[in-house]
Amino acid sequence: MIREDCIFCQIAARKIPATETYRDEDVVAIADASPQAPLHLLVLPVRHVSKISDFSGDADAARAGALFRAAARLGAQGAPSGFRLVVNEGEDGGQTVGHLHVHVLGGRAMRWPPG
Ligand code: AMP
Ligand code: ZN
Repeated sequence: MIREDCIFCQIAARKIPATETYRDEDVVAIADASPQAPLHLLVLPVRHVSKISDFSGDADAARAGALFRAAARLGAQGAPSGFRLVVNEGEDGGQTVGHLHVHVLGGRAMRWPPG
């Protein structure tokens, strides 16, 4: 399902341009428009899902698996010395785009705890 009012649905449907680094049937990876590290990708499901907690059941477990598998592969390829995967949810979690995405951050040492 493609939502007209969702920027990441529009990117997944190639109606809005983005720098794509990976695509398969289930997921698309794009360069973050405001990178916070030398490697900063966003891995999103092609089908609209608003947030990670909307996933439930076996079919969604497979979708979550596909998302994280792609994110981990891209992280390992782009940042062999280590990387971080981040999913933000809701206001306190810092989610600003209401289409689930996994941040892949690498190319520098990450700090802990995150802000
Ligand atoms: P979050 O705050 O976790 O919802 O992350 C949203 C991310 O999407 C931010 O890092 C933004 O820089 C990024 N972003 C927003 N719009 C675009 C876009 N059109 N293309 C690429 N990245 C975007
Ligand atoms: Zn969407």
